[in-house]
Amino acid sequence: MSLNIHYKEDFKDRHIAPNTADVDAMLHTLGLGSVDELIEQTVPQTIRLKQPLNLPQAKSEKDYLSSLKQTASLNKVFKSYIGQGYYDTTTPGVILRNVMENPGWYTQYTPYQAEIAQGRLQALLNFQTLVIDLTGMEIANASLLDEGTAAAEAMFMQFSLRKNQAAKKFFVSELLFPQTIDILKTRANPFGIELVIGDHQTTTLNEEFFGAIIQYPAGNGEVFDYTAFAQNAHTLNVKVTVVADLLSLTLLTPPGEWGADIVVGTTQRFGVPMGFGGPHAAYFATKDEYKRSIPGRIIGVTIDSNNNYALRMALQTREQHIRRDKATSNICTAQALLAIMAGFYAVYHGPKGLKLIAERTHGLAVTLAESLEKAGYTQLNKVYFDTIQLDLGNLVDSIHRECIDNEINLNYKGSVVTIALDETTAIEDVQLLVKIFAKVKGIAADAVELADEIVATVIPTSLQRTSAYLGHPVFNAHHSEHEMLRYIKSLEAKDLSLCHSMIALGSCTMKLNATTEMIPVTWPEFGRIHPFAPADQVAGYYTIFNELDKWLSEITGFAAMSLQPNAGAQGEYAGLMVIRAYHQDRGDHHRNIALIPSSAHGTNPASAAMAGMKIIIVKSLENGNIDVDDLRAKAEENKENLSCLMVTYPSTHGVFEESIIDICNIIHENGGQVYMDGANMNAQVGLTSPGNIGADVCHLNLHKTFCIPHGGGGPGMGPIGVAKHLVPYLPAHAVVDISKEKSIHAVSSAPWGSASILVISHAYIAMMGGEGLTSATKHAILNANYMKARLEQHYPVLYSGANGRCAHEMILDCRAFKNFGIEVVDIAKRLMDYGFHAPTVSFPVAGTLMVEPTESEPKHELDRFCDALIAIRKEVTAVENGDSDKTDNPLKNAPHTATVVTGDEWNHGYSRQTAAFPLPYVAAYKFWPSVGRVNDSFGDRSLVCACPPIESYMEEETV
Ligand SMILES: *Cc1c(COP(=O)(O)O)cnc(C)c1O
Repeated sequence: MSLNIHYKEDFKDRHIAPNTADVDAMLHTLGLGSVDELIEQTVPQTIRLKQPLNLPQAKSEKDYLSSLKQTASLNKVFKSYIGQGYYDTTTPGVILRNVMENPGWYTQYTPYQAEIAQGRLQALLNFQTLVIDLTGMEIANASLLDEGTAAAEAMFMQFSLRKNQAAKKFFVSELLFPQTIDILKTRANPFGIELVIGDHQTTTLNEEFFGAIIQYPAGNGEVFDYTAFAQNAHTLNVKVTVVADLLSLTLLTPPGEWGADIVVGTTQRFGVPMGFGGPHAAYFATKDEYKRSIPGRIIGVTIDSNNNYALRMALQTREQHIRRDKATSNICTAQALLAIMAGFYAVYHGPKGLKLIAERTHGLAVTLAESLEKAGYTQLNKVYFDTIQLDLGNLVDSIHRECIDNEINLNYKGSVVTIALDETTAIEDVQLLVKIFAKVKGIAADAVELADEIVATVIPTSLQRTSAYLGHPVFNAHHSEHEMLRYIKSLEAKDLSLCHSMIALGSCTMKLNATTEMIPVTWPEFGRIHPFAPADQVAGYYTIFNELDKWLSEITGFAAMSLQPNAGAQGEYAGLMVIRAYHQDRGDHHRNIALIPSSAHGTNPASAAMAGMKIIIVKSLENGNIDVDDLRAKAEENKENLSCLMVTYPSTHGVFEESIIDICNIIHENGGQVYMDGANMNAQVGLTSPGNIGADVCHLNLHKTFCIPHGGGGPGMGPIGVAKHLVPYLPAHAVVDISKEKSIHAVSSAPWGSASILVISHAYIAMMGGEGLTSATKHAILNANYMKARLEQHYPVLYSGANGRCAHEMILDCRAFKNFGIEVVDIAKRLMDYGFHAPTVSFPVAGTLMVEPTESEPKHELDRFCDALIAIRKEVTAVENGDSDKTDNPLKNAPHTATVVTGDEWNHGYSRQTAAFPLPYVAAYKFWPSVGRVNDSFGDRSLVCACPPIESYMEEETV
């Protein structure tokens, strides 16, 4: 027996599920001798990479974690008083372990299939209720990407709602956080919105303004009474957006009570680690009358087919999938998981607990301010919540030095410092600060007496909150850990996630989110770092960014990346703004036409509209490919004004189009740039690349191809890669200097977006290596073609490549079933009875299903899924033949809940077993939908987007 003492476990064999026997069997089905033979037939020779990916040797999971520990130790976790929208917080252990670190919560998809997503829909409804209650507004959405973009969405909503079309001015308080102002600049520019940045106390509004934005508490910590400002604005028809700190609103009169039209902000400090910038959920609240103009997803209450309480995403007609370039925003992936965490944090602490946290934080700020006054400093804020402000004059350098020696970060702006306290601040921390400040003045610390245990607030009565909040039972019933744990688990149990079965969502690439990739995210060296921490404290993060930039550049064939955009759609927007800046820099200010194929994802036209572009749709041919003649004609016709083409590759039809190089050439010849939507990168990595194909910019959905989990609708990351000529325009940041020569303004609040989850993609690439990544792509294509081979005898597969192969996904045509009354949604709902989440429904073709298996599913899982679809096809045939009733059949009545199946009454033309256990394997995998089919229109007719009052809850419990 020979013993290999160098044996290392190979991560790629964990990530790529099909084993040798699986692969052989699948190749046999496909009539192929090797995987490479399949790839030859699938990916056009003309675009294949000539060289293997040049990436470091793959690391084992163990080796990766130990080397990452080293990198992490280069980050210094200082005590942060920087504030500016990011505060240290304590994630309750029960939420940390059972939500943030739990695949039962982080691997879910966006809750489009409401019946198997009631848990997170409820958690998101809690979040909306939290936001509505604390802001004093009437309606809230289920999260946006960050505070800065939420502010920009608010500005744009005000702009869209303005009655006077000539009003182009938007007042911006100079006391907004600088990163927020920066994003407003980016968003304002394409629409000719004129930002008037100034002092709200001295600026005179008039009818040329359509809106205003102020911050509460302001960026320097001062709490202003804006009542008169808001009143004056309203008399001039100027709407008012307030950026507000949610925790402070437990003590301060909420903006909804003094005239806000929109309130936005971050919920980070509700138990979500700073993570060097994210991810965290932003919120958006407004008045009911504006409900149809709200950006992002809204969860609403409705009923199911049994007239029971049920939840689902409401008013979806606002979204880009339907409204395209007229959508209220381009937001698709948002921050669901983080919103869920913030909501749970409020459930855990309840109104009393939140108030105590706010009072302690405020009390310590008062104590600090008073003590520093005693030590001879002048504190500048008259009314404040958690942030005090001092002008240190020539003492600033000594204070700075002392603070660094004590591992403390303050926020410095010249000689002025702000000190923001938070949930984690203790009296000992205040004592240390006082000691430092006293020492610099040459005073012994014990000479400065700290204020008493009980201090008086500096908030005047007129600004003190009197209204109650979070009275709903959900915020008052789960305060012991057992109750909290069981509440979290009870919701989790209602949701189907990757823990249960494959989620074959075409275009969304629901692959493995390996545990080793996830583990570092909650290490304090990554989690407890403020995004504006000094550069010399974050060398670990810089190492990761530099490596990721290099590796993703190699994978995409581009010169450099921007790691700033927080989702794919934000990447699209960033990339288009970069293209715009490039044209303008060359004097081509008029180039504003974006050509977009009809099959594009809804975010493409929505992003182009946000970038101020005019959209021209390019036709598709019968076979699904882009109509190159139509493209050429439109490019030539608009030669003078062509800005770009937005193209997804392989196409959203699941095909590697042979003509892609010609397509890129046509655009370039006519003065345009090629924007590639990289959502389908999982079919490219290692085989071809956007750069190689001829694109100029591309975003990557790191939450698709590069293993960041979907979190039930976010977080995500959408970095963009660009060719060399576009590098100088990559986005800058207002606080952290990452500028290139001609950078556009920021697109996200934090310089590297949701920095902490970049570690996940870093881990994936490092552990797969170039060969592993390439193999993943090949196996994704193999899995898809195997499913196609099994399914095409039962469902027409729309579109395939020259050799009859699909790329990494395929479209199953269900349109013909309409003839006998079966809709594609009936199939989607019926899949739940078989234990599966539906594939993508009606995108990119209405009435179809788009199936994408990914490389992380083993053959037996693909087979189970195919078996389910085939069995469902037989059920369709039964309806067609008349063997099954047209309206009373397992498809129309799907999904079947346990209550229905076990009820005393059963008067359907098919058995209970057929309803709930339609195939033998289902018993071992049974997942019960918690509600019957949800009624969308009922909920949209009378929109309720907060937890309903107690009485209706009682009704629900008794059903
Ligand atoms: C997912 C997807 C997007 C949007 O990306 P988000 O990260 O959700 O913003 C854009 N285009 C395509 C083709 C997609 O599949």
